[in-house]
Amino acid sequence: FNVPTAVNEPVKTYKPGSPEKEAVLAEYKRMWNEKIDMPLYIGAEEVRTGNLREMRPPHDHQHVVGHYHKAEKKHVEQAIAAALSAKNDWENLPWEQRAGIFLKAAELIAGPYRAKMNAATMIAQSKNIFQAEIDAACELIDFLRYNVEFMTQIYQDQPKSTSDMWNRTEYRPLEGFVYAVTPFNFTAIAGNLPSCAALMGNTVVWKPADTQAFSAKVIIDVFKEAGLPDGVINVVMGDAAMISETVYASPDFAGIHFTGSTGVFKDIFRHIGANIDVYKTYPRIVGETGGKDFIVAHPSANVRQVVTGIVRGAFEFQGQKCSAASRAYLPKSLWPAIKEELMKDMATLKMGSPEDFSNFITAVIHENSFDKLASYIEQAKKDADAEIIAGGGYDKSKGWFIEPTVIVTTNPKYKTMETELFGPIITIYIYEDKDWKSMLDLVDTTSPYALTGAIFARERYAINEATHALRNAAGNFYINDKPTGAVVGMQPFGGARGSGTNDKAGSAQNLLRWVSPRTIKETF
Ligand code: GLU
Repeated sequence: FNVPTAVNEPVKTYKPGSPEKEAVLAEYKRMWNEKIDMPLYIGAEEVRTGNLREMRPPHDHQHVVGHYHKAEKKHVEQAIAAALSAKNDWENLPWEQRAGIFLKAAELIAGPYRAKMNAATMIAQSKNIFQAEIDAACELIDFLRYNVEFMTQIYQDQPKSTSDMWNRTEYRPLEGFVYAVTPFNFTAIAGNLPSCAALMGNTVVWKPADTQAFSAKVIIDVFKEAGLPDGVINVVMGDAAMISETVYASPDFAGIHFTGSTGVFKDIFRHIGANIDVYKTYPRIVGETGGKDFIVAHPSANVRQVVTGIVRGAFEFQGQKCSAASRAYLPKSLWPAIKEELMKDMATLKMGSPEDFSNFITAVIHENSFDKLASYIEQAKKDADAEIIAGGGYDKSKGWFIEPTVIVTTNPKYKTMETELFGPIITIYIYEDKDWKSMLDLVDTTSPYALTGAIFARERYAINEATHALRNAAGNFYINDKPTGAVVGMQPFGGARGSGTNDKAGSAQNLLRWVSPRTIKETF
């Protein structure tokens, strides 16, 4: 399998005056005024239903940047039919041809589409350029490249044979179609979920989140330009419940690749369970959901590392990562030093619109998130067991801006230690140094999630104790680093418990969920 070796796409730095900075800004301005019209993509058709939904940037919610066309039930049924009719040709195309399309898509994003991908992500998800570059350019490119490498690893895994008996495994796609549901916070995930199944020979109905319409359009344009045949990935947007129910009612529904909230994922299981007699095959259910990701510092920790871990882990990407640090357990002996450094760092974080490249933090994506985050901040201002030591401000006059906020609580079970907030708020609990071990139990049992977590310590015994005590508390466990920013090909990503099925994004394990192998025995 002589496929090009997957390499991680280098992150561009967008220095002032650099051509790449100018290119992104020019694209940002152009798209800002373009009034994008996003159709549904069904087979060879771009369908304009005329039932429009406006798209507005989270950092300027009065500005309309375009709209998408909402699907009706019949469009979802047509998308399913298109996926099924494209299936035979697609699954019988030699794997090299499928791989070639996705590798070409990666190169298109790395080159001619990079500025457009980044600008779309900056406008519709209010990411600053560095966040957009890491997500919409590098991580998406990495997924596309590495998935091809993982696919060849899978195909190479073959059983033993003898001279008169040849055994082989054929990694066929699932029978039916795959449904991809992608979240509002990551362009890379939007590109990855439908393409994992498609690469393995499946055809797909894809429902991007509303706020992702912008980047979803660029992704589908790229895939088409790279040569993806009509009907392999069909895009429908609109009423999520109606779309999903129509999909789950189909006997050909073969699996779902989902990233989103824990509540929605539980509903998916319920719906699929209720329809189980309808299906030709047991649908694969693969999902990455919420997190309440922790930072734990031992008294032997390096203070600077802890502070950087908190600031970057909690506030980059406006805290809108499933992996974002949102609860920290810090030892009393280090707290004065950590607090002093943390306050200095917090004072340097600039908040504003993404087109100003010096802003570290921008708006949160949804009005609903804004309201929820603001209400937790207000509650913390009133509660006797909580104190806001940094941030605590919010402003929705122009965009959904929430200041990066640090709450310190005396109650380890305080609401914001347990509940996922999905925004730039971290809550800190100061523990007595002598309580190190019982504190680890507290970390393990306080939230229903198990996505990411970080332990900071220099002492090897402490690292070992935490690694063992928290073995089920995080699918991605970081030692002396922030709990975010998994890199494809380096840290396969995903968690268990309330955080998902732990079918690691960026791994062969994930791609295996999209195949239904046939074992062939031939005797001579
Ligand atoms: N993979 C990302 C990280 O490691 C998080 C993705 C997500 O928010 O779902 O930070």
